Amino acid sequence: MPTYAYRCQECGYEFEATHAINDAPPECPECESEAVEKRITDAPTFAQGILTHAGDGRKATKEELQAKWQEETPKLRKKLEDKLGKDAVKDLPNLNLGSDD
Ligand SMILES: [Zn+2]
Repeated sequence: MPTYAYRCQECGYEFEATHAINDAPPECPECESEAVEKRITDAPTFAQGILTHAGDGRKATKEELQAKWQEETPKLRKKLEDKLGKDAVKDLPNLNLGSDD
């Protein structure tokens, strides 16, 4: 089972817990608060930024995801261009959904 790092939002205590991915987060061992936030320690920060708001860990809405894509896609294309060459990426679908490009 994976080990997760948590931080208590009540008292700030940081701890680790090992449990299945679908289990509810544990209580804070210090103050027994259930207001603990998972600290992502090994997920790619790119994916983290796409899936959650910075800071509060809430799921992003569809609109926010779309906005995020519009922001990230040109960067990704540029990266792929640098790596594979312009010809390799020119036929990729444009996820930019019609904004400037
Ligand atoms: Zn606590």
